[in-house]
Amino acid sequence: MRNCLLILIISLLSFACKFDNPEENTKPQIVATTSILADGIRNIVGENADVVSLMPAGVDPHLYKASVRDLDLLQNADMVIYHGLFLEGKMTEIFEKLAFSQNLINVSENIPQELLLRSGPEAHSVDPHIWFDVSLWSLALAHGSEELIKWQPEWKTTINKNTESYLSQLALLHQDNLTKVAQLRQANQALITAHDAFSYFGRAYDLEVLGLQGLSTLSEPGLRDLTGLVSFIVERNIHAVFAEQTISPKAIEAVVAGCANQNHEIKLAGPLYTDSLGAPESPAGTYIGMVKTNVQVIFESLTQ
Ligand SMILES: [Zn+2]
Repeated sequence: MRNCLLILIISLLSFACKFDNPEENTKPQIVATTSILADGIRNIVGENADVVSLMPAGVDPHLYKASVRDLDLLQNADMVIYHGLFLEGKMTEIFEKLAFSQNLINVSENIPQELLLRSGPEAHSVDPHIWFDVSLWSLALAHGSEELIKWQPEWKTTINKNTESYLSQLALLHQDNLTKVAQLRQANQALITAHDAFSYFGRAYDLEVLGLQGLSTLSEPGLRDLTGLVSFIVERNIHAVFAEQTISPKAIEAVVAGCANQNHEIKLAGPLYTDSLGAPESPAGTYIGMVKTNVQVIFESLTQ
């Protein structure tokens, strides 16, 4: 009897607790495709919504295929936000289908065409890595913020306040990058990575950037690319090349070996965070942290 009473009290208490926190399970859920995008959106929406990343940290978005569980998550979310510019290359059809039934924001859709970099005339040859130019990423997030307000007008005050505060942090980050990278330019260095993720970075901060692989990790680097790159490194006395967190270092290791054959010792630095944040709570676990970590690693490796 006493046990029964105890169970009854515990049940009543947990029932009461649920009612004490009515908002616990009622926040809208926003699904952003990558950890980079989820972090930006989280800063904008604040406490209004739960923001989850479809792809976990460390995953390559160019090659990512949605699982059945992912499709459930996308369909059941209150809002889905994606990068666009074919970054999520294997999910294009999914977004086209979702557009009929789901709230959907493509954060890059309003970036002026003249600010985008391309490797050819085809639609998919646009470079999707806009987050490496902090000012361009700010434009994408500002668009996301406007679209979120259209969707939930009652969030307008908090979203505007959060966006203003976050974008001013990004403006400072952009300035810091300009100052640091100028020193590398003076030292005649260049940034060499496995895949072509840093073209926007190079343009924004005026640093020469070369990638061994194309814009997407789908293409395989050829021998000609390798030989050309090795000659460039030796001639310019480049101090380091960089591995990337979401990509196998095999191709870039071949560059290091190629340089060694020419009696030019070069560091394999990094890995740089390119298409994903670092683990949550790690220094590169936020967008700002990721950019700072990358710039620090690039700076130290190329100046020493
Ligand atoms: Zn990439």
